[in-house]
Amino acid sequence: MIDQDTYPELTPGTVPMNGMRLRPQSNYVNVLVLRELKSHAVFTTNGEDADIATVPVAGGDYSPGLMFMRKQTGSDRRTAKALQRALGLFDDGEDACTMQVNEMCQDCPDCILYGSAASSGEEELSITSRVMYDTAYTIRDASVIIDEKFQNAPGDDYAKSAEATIREPDFFEPGTLFPSVITLRDTTPAEVAFVLGITKRNKRYGATTSRLGRVDNRILGVYVGREEGPSNLELTRGAIKRLDDSWESVVRSDTLSADTVETHVTETFEDAIDDDGLALERVSDGTVEELIETATDSDFKRVLAAQREHSRALLDEARD
Ligand SMILES: [Zn+2]
Repeated sequence: MIDQDTYPELTPGTVPMNGMRLRPQSNYVNVLVLRELKSHAVFTTNGEDADIATVPVAGGDYSPGLMFMRKQTGSDRRTAKALQRALGLFDDGEDACTMQVNEMCQDCPDCILYGSAASSGEEELSITSRVMYDTAYTIRDASVIIDEKFQNAPGDDYAKSAEATIREPDFFEPGTLFPSVITLRDTTPAEVAFVLGITKRNKRYGATTSRLGRVDNRILGVYVGREEGPSNLELTRGAIKRLDDSWESVVRSDTLSADTVETHVTETFEDAIDDDGLALERVSDGTVEELIETATDSDFKRVLAAQREHSRALLDEARD
């Protein structure tokens, strides 16, 4: 079983399974991740243009590509619900939950952890998410990681007017890196394992067609305590400054080694803890590996089923 007594290292940032409360407390688990694109991917809001920002870095500025938090949450929740079904968490004939905003079951670990809107049913409740995501920024500039692709409209003519070309959405190049933190608040050790398992299993983000959006989530560390760690933007900027004395050559480089970036992102996170005196401790790698192993095993059903009972009890408390 996964709880504070079996994983005491998690105690500073979690609540015990039988200690879930409606009132927010200050228990945080920060999961540090480097998302690496393994194929082309599409991250767009208007269906065409890649989402891009302009942000200051080291006295200048650059234009990173963005992965908005909604893209991360939506994809992770689909993975979470699919995992619950695959593990056989739901009884025969039981509602196996959906991604429909107002039709979520509010009765599974995913709904009670990631939140859900009040349904149209009798027992109106809206559940606040205890998993927080943040927009993620690429380390390199849009000019080197984003491809604009044009495709000729179908037709027999050898020459076509400009209007006849079809604008395809912008593609992010494979190898693009997004430093990201997932922050859990007042979660149980079993819920932490659930999120780690989802992060490890989920290999697809953004517009979903069969060959696009493959992502490898590298879990760099888990930090527990009374506070949130640095933001994604701080992490990205910190890593850029550490990679080379010339930040401009970093953001415009043709390739970047994910292994090297891993090290610099981790150091940026840990230096921020020291510099700002944050009450956060790193969980040992052995423990993190064990949690991931358990959460990606078929036996995880038992953990999730136990968690479900306690999650339900929390909601019952809200309904009273
Ligand atoms: Zn549900």
